[in-house]
Amino acid sequence: MSEILRVHDLAVRYGHIEAVKGLDFRLNEGEITALVGANGAGKSTTLLALSGLLKPSRGRIEFQGEDITRLAPHQIVQRGVVQVAEGRAILTTLTVAENLQLGAYTRPDKAGVGDSLDEVYQLFPRLKDRAAQFAGNLSGGEQQMLAIGRALMAKPRLLLLDEPSMGLAPLMVQEIFRTVSEINRAGLTILLVEQNVRQALKIARQGYVIETGKIVLSDSGENLLANPKVEEAYLGG
Ligand code: ATP
Repeated sequence: MSEILRVHDLAVRYGHIEAVKGLDFRLNEGEITALVGANGAGKSTTLLALSGLLKPSRGRIEFQGEDITRLAPHQIVQRGVVQVAEGRAILTTLTVAENLQLGAYTRPDKAGVGDSLDEVYQLFPRLKDRAAQFAGNLSGGEQQMLAIGRALMAKPRLLLLDEPSMGLAPLMVQEIFRTVSEINRAGLTILLVEQNVRQALKIARQGYVIETGKIVLSDSGENLLANPKVEEAYLGG
């Protein structure tokens, strides 16, 4: 299994608060890896550091063998690391189609953009039906789909998903997890941050559990689901 991302001793501070305290983890190409933990554990902070939106105070991030720790966010996107932000951050006064086009903004191969749009519409037929509507009129679940679709328009090699199921109705949560699996089956590597620990570990090959800025457990998704410590702390066992 080839490694696509390696993180060594990653630390991130907000002023004098160290929110992430020296993480080591790796992602294998083509797999879903879950990063799970409670509210405030440091999951979003970790993703923001991988995207270059927060600068680490220490440590090293290697993507496909290249040190990307000090690169600017747009340079990281150009290398194929694309984040879907928590809270979706879609542009509500633009149409669905315009939001999707924006995702392709940094792409050098403009010729491939139309194909990607077709792929996104195939994955999310609902977005195709609503292409001309303002994004602000979509339901929460549809907005999450749009945010994922927009990230896919950048043609990622690694997709970073921050709590895609947050705030959604149960049926929509199922649909989002199904979609994440489907995108992965098509070959994309995914780092999935979730508070919905059970669902995330079910679809993940590998998982890491983070508590107060440190990784406390790492194992296959399957083993973590069966781990009594995980059961007790996160699965209501
Ligand atoms: P959540 O699910 O709530 O997003 P999380 O695991 O993603 O949780 P982070 O958002 O990464 O956690 O937060 C980690 C720690 O850093 C928390 O203690 C949080 O209060 C703190 N923190 C997050 N953002 C800031 C900020 N902008 N300034 C100061 N402290 C912050």
